[in-house]
Amino acid sequence: MKIHEYQAIELFRHAGIPVAGGQVAEDIDEAQDIVSTLGFPVVLKAQVLVGGRGKAGGVKLAKDKIELEKYFSEIKALRIKNYTVEKILIVKALDIEREFYVALTVDNVKDDVVLIASSAGGVDIEETAKKSPEKIHKIYMGGQKEVDPQQWPGFLRQVFPEPNLQAPAGAILQKLVQVFYKLDCSLAEINPLVMDKKGRWFAADAKINFDDNALFRQPEIQKLIDFNYEEPDELEAKQKGLSFVKMEGNVGCIVNGAGLAMATMDVIKLFGGEPANFLDVGGSSNPEKVLNALKIILKNKNVTSILINIFGGITRCDDIAKGILEARQQIKISVPLVIRLTGTNEKEAKELLSGANLRMFATMREAIQEAVALASKI
Ligand code: GDP
Ligand code: MN
Repeated sequence: MKIHEYQAIELFRHAGIPVAGGQVAEDIDEAQDIVSTLGFPVVLKAQVLVGGRGKAGGVKLAKDKIELEKYFSEIKALRIKNYTVEKILIVKALDIEREFYVALTVDNVKDDVVLIASSAGGVDIEETAKKSPEKIHKIYMGGQKEVDPQQWPGFLRQVFPEPNLQAPAGAILQKLVQVFYKLDCSLAEINPLVMDKKGRWFAADAKINFDDNALFRQPEIQKLIDFNYEEPDELEAKQKGLSFVKMEGNVGCIVNGAGLAMATMDVIKLFGGEPANFLDVGGSSNPEKVLNALKIILKNKNVTSILINIFGGITRCDDIAKGILEARQQIKISVPLVIRLTGTNEKEAKELLSGANLRMFATMREAIQEAVALASKI
């Protein structure tokens, strides 16, 4: 889950990371109120949850009332990667002397959290990584929640060569590390971390992403969700205890277990089809879950066949079968269903479904071939 800059700034402020004063405005009157306390110059910043905001014209410095009005309406009218700008953050402009990049993120290849910093801040970090990789410095956390004290002084010296910068910058970095672990982040980034002309430090931009799997223990973070950026069907699925990810294809999938669900999507592609979704009904699936899964999949108008692939372990095939029958009574299933049920209570399931005139297959291969063939017929 992602949050907006103005929300991330509040979390940083709370953690003791210095940020420039400011507030969000939805209209020009609010903007003028904010500026009347801040004073000019101010920076206007579009609040959108996609990258490339600055380049898209979403960050502007306003020196006076005329510029404020002009830039406010210009930014409000922007569409950044197809998202409208609902809120604009207005902050006191900083008199920037130096800009740095600092972040913590998860390195999925090394299976570790990495602290990244660079003296080349303010610019696109991917560009720096390509053009001047020597300017990017990293410390791997090695499973610890504190930076290795052995590596720390050397790291600070590399990023902040002037000794007088190391203590204030180091203190901010330590706080960023604390925020990252305390809030279960997957990314906590300050770009740029600014030192102004008077030697004061500020996080001039703030980006935080959270680990979705840890959100259950971060109730305060859950409240920050912006529903404009969430797939409504995925939210509904989550509320109903289903793991669901919408995709581009036309073969709807209902599977038990994440591993089998992934394998099912692979085999669909192997046979020339395209999955419409990932869906794991979970281990102890009750009939209700199958009904809910079918309802969610049928909302997707691209779906032209639905494959139910169950390998019953903890999941009982007869529960799944009951769910299918229940769904056929309650909703109109307008596309062909292809079913493969095997494992626990398979016999009971087949008895339940016999006479229901359903396409049943014994193996995953046959079922998927059929589902792919039916999907492309329409
Ligand atoms: P991003 O492009 O979406 O990452 O937006 P940022 O908030 O990082 O702003 C982009 C750039 O605008 C920064 O790297 C700075 O160079 C500049 N900028 C942002 N805030 C200020 C400010 O208060 N004063 C000045 N002079 N420049 C700023
Ligand atoms: Mn930035």
